[in-house]
This record gives sequence, C-alpha cells and structure tokens, in this order.
Amino acid sequence: MGRKKPATGGPHRVRRVAFYVRVSTEGQARVQEGSLKNQEQMLASELRRRNTGTPWGRHVGSYVDGGFSGSNTDRPELKRLLADVERGAVDAVFFTELSRLSRSLKDFLNIFEFTQEHNCDLVCLKTEIDTTSPFSNLVVRILMVFAEFEREITADRIKRNAYERSKRGLAYGGFEPFGYRRDLEHKGRLLIDPEEARLVRQVYTTYIRKRSLLEALKSLRAKHDHPRIQKLSRNGIYGILTSRVYIGIREIKNNGTVEEVTGAWKPIITTKTFEQVRDILSGNGPGPRTPRHNYIFSGLIRCAKCGRKLQGKSGKGRSGQPRYYYAHPGRCAEGGLHSIEADDAHRLVEEWLGAIVRDKDRFVDLAENGRTELRRKLRAINRDLKHLDHEDAALRKRLADATTQSLSRAGSATEALREKEADKLLEQLRANEQQTEQLRAEAESLTAIADTSDASLFRDYSERIKRFEKLSSGQKCRRVFDLVQSLTLGEQSLHLELVHPNGRFKPEALSILCDTIPLPGILLLKSKPFLRRLYQDENLSARAIARRIGVGSSTVAVAIHKHGLASETRRDIKRPQHVPFGYDFKNGKHVPNQKEQQVIRTVRQLRSAGLSLRDIAAHLNRKLVATKRGGVWDSALVGRLLGRSPNKPRS
Ligand SMILES: [Zn+2]
Repeated sequence: MGRKKPATGGPHRVRRVAFYVRVSTEGQARVQEGSLKNQEQMLASELRRRNTGTPWGRHVGSYVDGGFSGSNTDRPELKRLLADVERGAVDAVFFTELSRLSRSLKDFLNIFEFTQEHNCDLVCLKTEIDTTSPFSNLVVRILMVFAEFEREITADRIKRNAYERSKRGLAYGGFEPFGYRRDLEHKGRLLIDPEEARLVRQVYTTYIRKRSLLEALKSLRAKHDHPRIQKLSRNGIYGILTSRVYIGIREIKNNGTVEEVTGAWKPIITTKTFEQVRDILSGNGPGPRTPRHNYIFSGLIRCAKCGRKLQGKSGKGRSGQPRYYYAHPGRCAEGGLHSIEADDAHRLVEEWLGAIVRDKDRFVDLAENGRTELRRKLRAINRDLKHLDHEDAALRKRLADATTQSLSRAGSATEALREKEADKLLEQLRANEQQTEQLRAEAESLTAIADTSDASLFRDYSERIKRFEKLSSGQKCRRVFDLVQSLTLGEQSLHLELVHPNGRFKPEALSILCDTIPLPGILLLKSKPFLRRLYQDENLSARAIARRIGVGSSTVAVAIHKHGLASETRRDIKRPQHVPFGYDFKNGKHVPNQKEQQVIRTVRQLRSAGLSLRDIAAHLNRKLVATKRGGVWDSALVGRLLGRSPNKPRS
C-alpha cells in the first residue's frame, strides 16, 4: 500500500468507469434503496455529476452480482471486474457503499491494494471514499474497521432475534416454502397457496406411486408446466418429500441439533402420507443417490508418489453443484496430489489423444522415445537371462556332484541328506527354467514391439483412437482398457501410457507410446499443498506465482483466498507486512538474500557512477531482475532501495 501512482495521462484524461453493483439473496432486491436498478441509477447520476464541465469519465460497463453475499470474494462479476482492472481496461470503479464491494476488511484491503497496483481508483458514494484523495489509505482502513465491527454486531443481533422468533414457531426468513404465501398481516405466519399446495400434494402422491425420485420427476414434469415443477431437480423433489414444513412443523437447527416446534402455519400433507413417503425413501437408500457419473479412468489412474489407485468419487462443491473427481483413498503417505476432477482428467487425456492423431511428427517423436525405453528394458532382460544361464550351469554341476557322491557312498548315513539336497537343487533348476522362459517370451514381445514400423503403429493407434472418440462415455468406460495402459497423477502432470497394438502385456507393462501431460495452471491452483508451497514456503507473491504457472494474478489471488492461505499465513506464521528487497523472511526473522544483496550493491555503484534512477530501473529490467513482488522496476522502487541502509532491513 501507499505506492505512488505513476501519472498516466494528463489531467484531462477521461477515465473509463465501471459500476459495481451487488445485492444478497435475502430479499434485498425488494428494498427500494438497495435494489440493483437503484444502485446503478445512483452510480450513473454520480458519474453525470462529475462530468459537468470538463469530462471526468465515461461508463464502460456494469458488473452486477445479484444474490451473492459480500462476506467473501467468490462472486463471478467481481472476479470479472478485477480481471478487467488487471488488464488495464478500467480506471475507476464506482459503488454505492462499502458493503457492496466487501463486508470483510481483509477482502476489501486486498481489492483496494489490487486496484491501486493497477492504477484503478475506487469511488464509494456513501462514505466519500475516493482514492484520488490523499487520505484514502488512512480513511479506508478506519472505515473498514468500523464496517466490520458493525457487521459483527448486526449478525449477532439477527441471530438472537431469529432464534427467539423461531421458538414461537414463526416462519423462516428468506423465501417462503413452496406451497405457502407469507401472511402480510401477521409477520412470520404462512398461508397456504391453494395452487402450489395442490402441486406439493402431487409430488407426494406421484412419488408414492412411482417409488423412484427420477421416475416421479419425469412424470411430474410431463403433467405440470408450472415453472417450479419444470425447474425441479431430483434433489429438489427429495427436499419437498422430506421437509417437515409440510406437516406443520418448524425445525430449529442449532449447532448440529434440531429442535422441533409446532409451526405457525397449517400442514399441507397428512402425517400418514409423510411417513409413508419416508418409509419408501428409506427403502431406497439413506438419501438422494448422487447421479451416476462415468468414471472412465477408474482402475487405471494412480498416484505417482505412492502408486495407489485413485477412486472415482462425487461430492458437492462450494456452489452446491455436484462434482466428480478421482481421489486418493485417504491421505497420501508420500504427499501426492489428493485429487483431480474427473472432467479435467477426461478432457486432458482426450485432448492429448486428439492431438496425437492429428500430429504425426509428434507421434513419431513419442514412439522413438518409447523405443529407446523398450530397448533399455530389453538390455536389462538380457542381462537377467545371462545371469540365469550362469546360475543354471552352476546348479547342474552341483547336482551332478551330489549324484555321483551319493552313488559312491550308497547306504551311508548321509545318503538321505544328499537325496534331499538333490531334490532341492532340482527344484531350483525348474524354477530357473520357468523364469528363463518367461523372460524370453517378454524379450520376444518387446523386440517385436520395438521393431514395429512408425507407419503401421500410427495407422493402428489412429484407428483405435478415432474409434474411441466416437464412443459414448458409458462405452468409453468399458473400452478404455483397450487403449490406455496406465495413468499416473503427479503433482504437476499426468503421465499417460497407451496399450500397444498387440494388447496389454504383463508383467511391468511398458508402452511404446507414453507422454507426460503437464497440468494447466488453472488445475494446479486447485491443489492446496502446491499453492501453499509456493505462497508460504517459497514466499512468492500472487503475481510471481501467476507468472510461473501462466495464469492471471487475480486468479491466483482468488485461489489463495479460496484455500484460506492468506489468513493462514497471517495467523500461523508471523510474517511481516513487508519483506524488503535484499532479505527473505525465514523462521520469523529477516535473513539476507545474497543474490538480492548483490543487486543492491550494483544499484549503489550505478548510482554513484551518476546514472539516473530511471536508467538504473531500466538496467535492472533488462537484466531480468525481478522485484520483491515479481514485477518490474521503476524509478520510485529504485529510489526506495537506495534510501535504505545497506545492511539492515527497516523494522
Ligand atoms: Zn499417493
């Protein structure tokens, strides 16, 4: 924070202004002042006001998050806005009040810093925040402390109030349940909506008749074109069938326990029907079964670190959407990647397959690599064979000795012993022979594979891949074993081996066609351990991480937030707000960074040689020296570097 903005453009620059507008779900849209339309109008009139006289700015877009809470930054339009700020497409962001942008101090300060970094101003109508004013840093911090304080108090009050009301059986806040209307004369009471109530009863009776959520859903959709029915999902039906609201019961959930009181409304469903449905549901399984998903790579995909197979799993994501992934059974003892989304894995492999079919040069290169690997393996087998041969000769000699000796000393006390030894030797010989045979067969097939011509390999693989591409995902599940030999999920890549035209061979399958597919940056960010290593252990900034893995830095910032790494850092490791250039922060202490110290010395020498700050900055940028934040140098940064004592970091 506190970085001076370089003066881009003159005083008459017309700023590109974006409006940010947000309401949360809780019926706020209806409150006049808070509504989306209203917020936008207020922002537009503010812009008009500023535009009287000299043109101040022009509206380049509105970013509207309807139905999102301000307590985190997980909002699509906000992300889009920040991405546009990062691109340099926005010079100022207007919003009506602080809570629209963020309800958390931490988030706001992050956004604030981010926009400052990208020379974008924040203009808040209600609190006179206007980062063109020099007070902004101070004012913003103070205001945000108050905003968060107020929010905490309000949240607490609302919670206590809600509990008191619910004890009296009064209705839930938010939307009324399907089948009911709010009683406008008695707050908290519900009235039955006859038309919707009829549909709720239909849901119950249809399910009792069909005994299957999916079948009931199909039948209901076919019969009723009420939008709520058309939009109903399997889980939605399950929700209606298990909601005690419909038998007139108010449930109060509190820290994992559920209290029941009589609701301030009339039931729609009789207890008998409700229980009948409950019995059928429990016969069908404990809950709504998750929809089937085709885990194409089940049984094929393994952890690169410990070699265990990953299992196809499903669960609900943050947004409540079901997600499907291949996951480690439990934690990986070796610290391997925990999971990969099934669709990501499928897409990566299918894209790779498509690319191979269409790029013969690449195919030939990979096949050549495969051949080299096969020949290496062949040499190893031949060494083993030679070794077995020697062993065989030695065994035979010992056997011959044992036989002649036992013949010459027939009847002696040691005869039984000798015979035993001979038996053992014979057994070893047989085992040897078996192993030799096996290795010979393997060597033969390896030679055959290594000797297959590129042309015929390419023809064969492309035919099989094209056939595979046309299959439905259910069919792919069954046929994938004919095509893919193995998949190994490493920390930053997915290793893939294809089955040879002659079929899968054992043991220790080795493919002539294998490749390592790097995981795209956006997937790497899904791994918390990976991100933690870069962000906390290596102490890289979001921007430096972004550069390293090739994604936008706001994406990285969002991921850091999502994994809770930002708050972890502040809580667990005492990290100073600012690690000066020339130092690293390790184990709670500033430690000189030799490389960066050398840069500082160079900068001093250049300065005493009479170079301007700007020239020094240019020099550093030419030499590809990165700043602490992984960015480029400017004269202000160089000046700050020179202003510091060379040996000690500022405290
Ligand atoms: Zn593992």
